[in-house]
Amino acid sequence: MKDQLIDTYGRVHRDLRISVTDRCNFRCQYCMPEEGMEWTPREELLTFEEIERLASLLVNKFGIESIRLTGGEPTVRANLSKLIEKLAKLNVDLSLTTNGATLPLIAGELYDAGLDRINISLDTLDRKRFESLTRRDNLKQVLHGIETAKSVGFDPVKINMVVMKGVNDDEVLDFVSYGRENGLVVRFIEFMPLDADETWTESKVMPQNEILELISSKYDLEPLSRGSSPAARWKFVDGPGEIGIIATVSEAFCDACDRIRLTADGKFRNCLFAIQEYDVRKLLRENAGDEKIIELFSHAVKQKWAGHQIGKSVFIRPSKSMSQIGG
Ligand code: SAM
Ligand code: SF4
Repeated sequence: MKDQLIDTYGRVHRDLRISVTDRCNFRCQYCMPEEGMEWTPREELLTFEEIERLASLLVNKFGIESIRLTGGEPTVRANLSKLIEKLAKLNVDLSLTTNGATLPLIAGELYDAGLDRINISLDTLDRKRFESLTRRDNLKQVLHGIETAKSVGFDPVKINMVVMKGVNDDEVLDFVSYGRENGLVVRFIEFMPLDADETWTESKVMPQNEILELISSKYDLEPLSRGSSPAARWKFVDGPGEIGIIATVSEAFCDACDRIRLTADGKFRNCLFAIQEYDVRKLLRENAGDEKIIELFSHAVKQKWAGHQIGKSVFIRPSKSMSQIGG
């Protein structure tokens, strides 16, 4: 019987997110500043061997069942498919979140390396708006990347849309049609206070109830079971396909959170919004034995709080942005 990564509220942690780089080829307004972002120097990033060791420990000792690679933009890390090959041997559900721009070139390689699932972030279907939101004129590549991901065999391909009031909330129904027409699962994400420019306000969040009301005005939806997924899910009554909503702000799902994180520079985080990190890289580079590292994981998870408290006076914004933590 394996040990469990269990916190003081009884939540068992089985889902690991690993950021492989804080670099990115985009500069999304809600995630990174246009200029002046300093990347972590290469020697401070965890090596693939270090990532593999930590992931193996977490899987073999604590029964971690799923690993998602993220960033920054994970596909800008050289030889990503080599890491995927190593992690695929752990027999967990292995997935990737990407902005999709490099997929026309590497989707096949990632699939062949053993990646199980892929989520592609896309917030608008309009070229000008895409350029303004991401500060890059790459909509065509991303759409092509989505098609390529499907054609090499990824199924389902999920699309993540961050919905922001006054920015792209007029495209929610367009995304539903785009998903239905192309066999994609669209997941609407509430805008979170992790933007590097710190312009987040609650008034910019389109809450789950409004997203749902809007979609229900055009489509009949039936709720699906959620399990430990951060997304609440609904299927279309009139045909195949589903949508999801990740309501981190309006309907926090902290009670059911089973997620832990490793940042690109080797810090362990027990929550996306954590204000404390635990330095695993230091242990690795001091040649610590497995027991010491296991101790750090157990201790850090026991310190996990009940929830993030966004919108309440006690909420403390993490000093890092989404791209630095690993979204
Ligand atoms: N570069 C990859 C991408 O864009 O998919 C992976 C990293 S990105 C930080 C991961 C996810 O976080 C993306 O779906 C992105 O849209 C989302 N994200 C970034 N900043 C956000 C924010 N302030 N609120 C909500 N979601 C955000
Ligand atoms: Fe890069 Fe993803 Fe952040 Fe956009 S959301 S800047 S693609 S890390």
